[in-house]
Amino acid sequence: MRQRIMIAMAMALEPSLIIADEPTTALDVTVQAQVMDLLAELQRELHMGLILITHDLGVVADVADTIAVMYAGRIVERAPVHEIYRAPAHPYTRGLLASIPRLDQKGQDLYAIKGLPPNLTRIPPGCAFHPRCPMAQDVCVTEEPPLARVTYEGLVAERRSACHFWKETLDASR
Ligand code: SF4
Repeated sequence: MRQRIMIAMAMALEPSLIIADEPTTALDVTVQAQVMDLLAELQRELHMGLILITHDLGVVADVADTIAVMYAGRIVERAPVHEIYRAPAHPYTRGLLASIPRLDQKGQDLYAIKGLPPNLTRIPPGCAFHPRCPMAQDVCVTEEPPLARVTYEGLVAERRSACHFWKETLDASR
């Protein structure tokens, strides 16, 4: 109810853009879905922009058009929502998607990305994800990958990935 009151207070200002930071944290799954439906409905009706900040990729699947995945304070992948779920082009996104519990994997160990996120005052050189990345090579330790355009046949919208090996990651994901 408190989340709904916060949303109502924000809507009363008739904003053109809402930034919702973890709007479903600490809610059970049913209420989580209700809050997300409410935000999506208001966004459609009022034609406002909606930026959702969340650690839960499962929550945004039905609401977002575009997802920007951030690691160590930087966007590492940006893509239309269905493209990113279908075939992630960054190992961190792959790890996040693999760690979402799935009904068809009942009884199996849940995947976890090894290690911990870096201290933001001591971000590793090169690619900040390299100490945890299963695909890391020597170049990842020294060269920061640019947020490069991802291209492949059948892709209509723009995609970007900050990985030296986005092609290999994409191939492994498809
Ligand atoms: S640049 Fe290297 S370390 Fe960074 S995500 Fe890509 S493969 Fe992994």
